[in-house]
Amino acid sequence: MTIDPAERARLIVAHDGAHAFDAVVPPIVQTSLFTFPSMADMVETYAGRKSRPVYSRVGNPTVSAFEEKMAALEQTDDAIGFPSGMAAISGAILAFIKPGDRIVCVRHVYPDAYRLFEGLLKGWDVSTVYVDGGDPDAIAAVLPGAKLLYLESPNSWMMEAHDVGTLAALARRHGVMTMIDNSWATPVFQQPATLGVDLVIHSASKYIGGHSDVVAGVVAGRHELVDHIRRTICPYIGAKLAPFEAWLLLRGLRTLPERVRAHEASALTLARHLVAHPLVTAVHHPGLANRLPPGLLGTTGLFSFEAHESLDIPVFCDALKLFKIGVSWGGHESLVVPALVTRVQAAGPNSAVDFGVPERMVRLHVGLEGTNALWSDLTAAFETAKR
Ligand SMILES: *Cc1c(COP(=O)(O)O)cnc(C)c1O
Repeated sequence: MTIDPAERARLIVAHDGAHAFDAVVPPIVQTSLFTFPSMADMVETYAGRKSRPVYSRVGNPTVSAFEEKMAALEQTDDAIGFPSGMAAISGAILAFIKPGDRIVCVRHVYPDAYRLFEGLLKGWDVSTVYVDGGDPDAIAAVLPGAKLLYLESPNSWMMEAHDVGTLAALARRHGVMTMIDNSWATPVFQQPATLGVDLVIHSASKYIGGHSDVVAGVVAGRHELVDHIRRTICPYIGAKLAPFEAWLLLRGLRTLPERVRAHEASALTLARHLVAHPLVTAVHHPGLANRLPPGLLGTTGLFSFEAHESLDIPVFCDALKLFKIGVSWGGHESLVVPALVTRVQAAGPNSAVDFGVPERMVRLHVGLEGTNALWSDLTAAFETAKR
């Protein structure tokens, strides 16, 4: 019997099993260290013959509970938590990349991932070439000799959705490892490991947390790969997810399938309304295409549109009341951010300029306030900002 992925996700997150005091919610094991009942126990543990938590930089039961659920959701046999999505991205990459290696990366990735490639990694003699993820032939041409194919699909400014299974198969044929940033789709709508991707990365600060109250990340994949990150990177870089953050993420996961379905319905309706709006010249939302790429089973609340010349974009953003001006996304609240801020951003290489994110692009995150109220908010702001 095949289980619908949303249903599978609901089953995985619905019950936490038995905890101390029959608590329905797992405890926050807020401790830095764990003591041993005896010296023999300590020696067995240090020799690797016994598995138990020793020190929370390396392992903690609340963090492990989150990691186990993420592995189950992504249909992998292991996962490791990080204190941010960027720590997950850099941790996964640093574990497998060395000086002289070449990365093939899809265009329009998360701007700070781009800055990691063009800043720190470039300085360590790691080069990155950028390709159109919708053009497998162009990718095949640059894969020979590469170490890593880095994907983000759908990506978070242009919302380009790629055929992840085809790209993963292509990379495998060339012996190239694959990683994907799966933050946009969540494991409810896309399980890239089932499509052949080696490592699946999330900014858990987005839908997985879901309440805009935690910054965290996770990497899921085959045990052999995740354990390599766990052994070679995490203890020494020290980027470990904390128990309270893991507990907030476990709380967020319980409603993930329901939340993403609500974001999906609202955002799709608003995107369709915007297509017909006279002040909108283009809408970037994967759900507007005739069909989604294979393996992408639904859409979420983040999309973007391009505004007509006669819309004053700053005035439009200021006029919105329910959509707050802010970065990030994935929480209950609706947000707006125009691409023009990425052009004035002082930090590092500028992704919007280098990657051609359209100048008149506005990104929306559609929260859970209700579709009609959000549409009224948008139409009123368009009226105010029309020149
Ligand atoms: C936010 C984000 C990240 C980075 O995650 P943090 O938790 O902020 O470090 C990575 N990828 C995408 C697509 C994001 O939106």
